[in-house]
Amino acid sequence: MDTESLKTSVISEIDSRGHELSELSLKIHSNPELGFQEVKAAAWLTQYLEENGFSIERGICELPTAFRGSYGTGKPAIAILAEYDALPDLGHACGHNIIATCAVGAGVASKPAIDQLGGSIVVIGTPAEELYGGKATMIDRGAFDNVDIAMMVHPGAYDTATIQVLACQHIEVEFFGKAAHAAGRPEAGINALEAMIQSFIAIDSLRQHIKDKARIHGIITDGGEAPNVVPAHSAGSFIVRAEEDTYLDELKERVLNCFIGAAKASGARLEYRWGDVRYAPMRNNLTLAQLFMQNMQSLGRQMQLFEPNHNFGSTDMGNVSQVVPSIHPFVAIAPVEVANHSPQFASAAVSEAGIHGLLDAAKALAMTVVDLTANPEIVNQIVQEYQQKND
Ligand SMILES: [Zn+2]
Ligand SMILES: [Zn+2]
Repeated sequence: MDTESLKTSVISEIDSRGHELSELSLKIHSNPELGFQEVKAAAWLTQYLEENGFSIERGICELPTAFRGSYGTGKPAIAILAEYDALPDLGHACGHNIIATCAVGAGVASKPAIDQLGGSIVVIGTPAEELYGGKATMIDRGAFDNVDIAMMVHPGAYDTATIQVLACQHIEVEFFGKAAHAAGRPEAGINALEAMIQSFIAIDSLRQHIKDKARIHGIITDGGEAPNVVPAHSAGSFIVRAEEDTYLDELKERVLNCFIGAAKASGARLEYRWGDVRYAPMRNNLTLAQLFMQNMQSLGRQMQLFEPNHNFGSTDMGNVSQVVPSIHPFVAIAPVEVANHSPQFASAAVSEAGIHGLLDAAKALAMTVVDLTANPEIVNQIVQEYQQKND
């Protein structure tokens, strides 16, 4: 079968599985599980792959809800990544039910291409994208060592083949002061809450003089116990983000100085801890992105290579893109005014448009697998582009 016939069969395969894939997506959506607790989703996804001829390894990288489903053993080894964690309170407001389902659908629809043209397909289940950067841990534990190319599709409000993703790191901050009666003996107290408030003010001032796309944002998680007691303890959780790794390093130091200064001013003692996982910026592989974009366009999507209006926070797919040529396109399932991480987006993730986006994304991923297995020359170009950026 030639490339075009294989792509036609991919499309009809996904269409014939449309009902079962949308059922699977709905099931994950109505059973939201937080990062590293995605027991049901991981079980359903691996079961689907297993029933369709994939060999399954569960709990890889010592993460109980991570998995690998493999079909074929040849080169190139093409990974399609699934995310399936939800958000606290909001459920699947980032639409990871769609990411997961289109990954397994694309994997299964890629089988004829692997049978006829060689190569192998691995669907990698990557837990805890939202809160813990599960992929970073999986990279450290070797999950991507034998992978040549990695792809995933995220639902959003735009059709875009590449994304801008910021490097980022969390910081947890605590101030320790001294309790006292807030009216009777205020002079005996050290106010840990004031130290936290001063930190916010210092960060606000800093924010005027940082690069355009950098971001600093945080919340107070402990602000004291009672209004008539000088708060002896305060705590906050912050995220620092920047376009480049080097600028993130610089900004982290300046943010830390805001906390140190506030501690000095208030007399409270500062304790802080940077998050274990650092999210890397995304290196979009343009050769791979173009293939995916053309396949999406052939399905009638007005997909762009870049979408200047589309900003995204951070993702652990950025880390993957630093070690393997990668893409993380977006498929539109909601109007532009609907943001990810909102209740409206959670509804979009199970809407007609959501199912349509899921099926298009699965088709385009499997069609891209056809391109990659049929054209070793394109795989070389993708790898060359990746290596050039490494120099
Ligand atoms: Zn997401
Ligand atoms: Zn998200």
